[in-house]
Amino acid sequence: MPTMETTQRSATELTGRSIIGFSSGNSGGATFRAFDPQTGKPCEPEFTSASVNEVNRAVELAVAAAPQWASSSREVRAEFLRAVAAGLEKIASTVIERAKLETGLPEGRFKSELARTCGQMRLFADVVQEGSWVSARIDRADPKRTLPKPDIRSMLIPLGPVAIFGASNFPLAFSVGGGDSVSAWAAGNPVIVKAHPAHPGTGELVGRVISDAVRSLGLPEGLFSLLFDSGIAVGQALVKHPDVKAVGFTGSLAGGRALMDLAAARPEPIPVFAEMGSINPVFILPRALQERGEHIVAGLYGSFTLGGGQFCTKPGVVFVPKTGASEELARKLGERVAEASPFTLLTAGIRTAFVHGRDERKSTGNLRITVGKNGDPDDGSYRVNPVVMETNAETFLANVELSEELFGPATLLVSHSNKAQVLEAASKLKGHLTATVHGTEEDFSEFADLISVLQTKVGRLVFNGYPTGVEVSHAMVHGGPYPATSDGRSTSVGTQAILRFCRPVCFQDCPNEFLPAELKDENPFRIWRMIDGEMTRDAVARPA
Ligand code: NAP
Repeated sequence: MPTMETTQRSATELTGRSIIGFSSGNSGGATFRAFDPQTGKPCEPEFTSASVNEVNRAVELAVAAAPQWASSSREVRAEFLRAVAAGLEKIASTVIERAKLETGLPEGRFKSELARTCGQMRLFADVVQEGSWVSARIDRADPKRTLPKPDIRSMLIPLGPVAIFGASNFPLAFSVGGGDSVSAWAAGNPVIVKAHPAHPGTGELVGRVISDAVRSLGLPEGLFSLLFDSGIAVGQALVKHPDVKAVGFTGSLAGGRALMDLAAARPEPIPVFAEMGSINPVFILPRALQERGEHIVAGLYGSFTLGGGQFCTKPGVVFVPKTGASEELARKLGERVAEASPFTLLTAGIRTAFVHGRDERKSTGNLRITVGKNGDPDDGSYRVNPVVMETNAETFLANVELSEELFGPATLLVSHSNKAQVLEAASKLKGHLTATVHGTEEDFSEFADLISVLQTKVGRLVFNGYPTGVEVSHAMVHGGPYPATSDGRSTSVGTQAILRFCRPVCFQDCPNEFLPAELKDENPFRIWRMIDGEMTRDAVARPA
């Protein structure tokens, strides 16, 4: 069996090896490289895929770490998250350089993504330190009731080792140290990340910071491992491993669905929290279109081309009433697209899927396509021209592929003749992450039924704004009914994301000294608890 070397390298040096607890992978397995999307050329160094033995070792370490981390104090968990944030900030320029190289995205994007990633860690640190997230509930006993009522107390506890899949389109905020990992750690679970193969160098840099934080704080070795793979074998082995208890994923519907099916077919099925495709429909209502069509064009163009259109919240379809103003909106959007420079996509696969999806739509009857000038660059880069498509509601409703995600700088304008038609289109939508409505107060009153329908279809409704840009906060919901996510009851952004990686447990008639601190009579952490149906931070007064 190949040996593992102990990791002693500096946090900014790339080794191309998986991080398995405090050791470096040394599987001698298949190798792969990242590619520079600006040139299509491979980048140094070579990365080595983890072996089955290394997957097993990472899980074994995570299992060993789980009890200690689950019972770690609120302060220790918060300190770990803050240490990772500070460590990342220390190597910010190195991480940003590498992320730019591996994604083709600009510096400004990574400055803000790094700030968001570190802010997210500190927000979760605050949440765990405050402590009320465990949702403690106490129903006091009533021994005098005819059928005596027991003392019942419940709270949330962690699930155990969680496997996380890094996303291609957010190398920092939804990857190795991203929101999925952070919310799983905050809830008290060890994490094993399967790095996205498009940005392994960025993943390794972040991974080394996390690993250093684990080691320097004297935390259990298995709290974190990072596994590389050129294909899907490592991810599948992780999801099938009997000691992995939950999965977090961001990516394609095909990938997410495959993992859901694998997890459901295990002897012990486990939850998969997959955030998948979304077309994020936008509805421009008649008065808003008339009053501020020009302003909306500028915002819409900015939103569907932001990050090369590679956001899960990109507005992919825009419903407009068919009027002179909508024709003007289409003309202006077409002009912007025709004059635009090409956008760089993240991977060769994403570029191929974009070009294929766009060209396939060209054969749809009643669909007009405006593409940027001079065709897509043929220079080995992953650049493509933006696209705006136009059709009518009948065509949209008759062609199911038009309601599928086209990942990249493209959007589809759908004109409708009347309110009944737009309501029909809305009611036939599948689950999406967001829906956006542009309207005046009068529009919102007239289209109240549309807004009611949209609430049943999405996780977030945006009014007079744009869906790209997801605030990391307490009330945020970045989720939505299937197929936007695998579980519409969850969010992958914001502090409620922690709820994915824990479960409730209740203690009946448990003596006070054996209860977890959060449920003890005296409420030592002064957290918010529900006692007999009322929220309070008071201690429990046991009935006489
Ligand atoms: P992806 O193909 O779904 O891959 C995401 C991760 O899952 C990768 O690490 C991938 O490994 C792994 N994976 C995929 N299928 C798997 C399977 N059957 N079993 C085990 N592991 C599997 O997503 P992507 O590479 O980011 O981009 C491809 C497409 O996904 C895009 O064109 C876009 O349509 C969509 N996407 C959507 C979002 C969103 O938030 N809505 C975000 C990103 C991408 P390998 O790379 O080694 O296959």
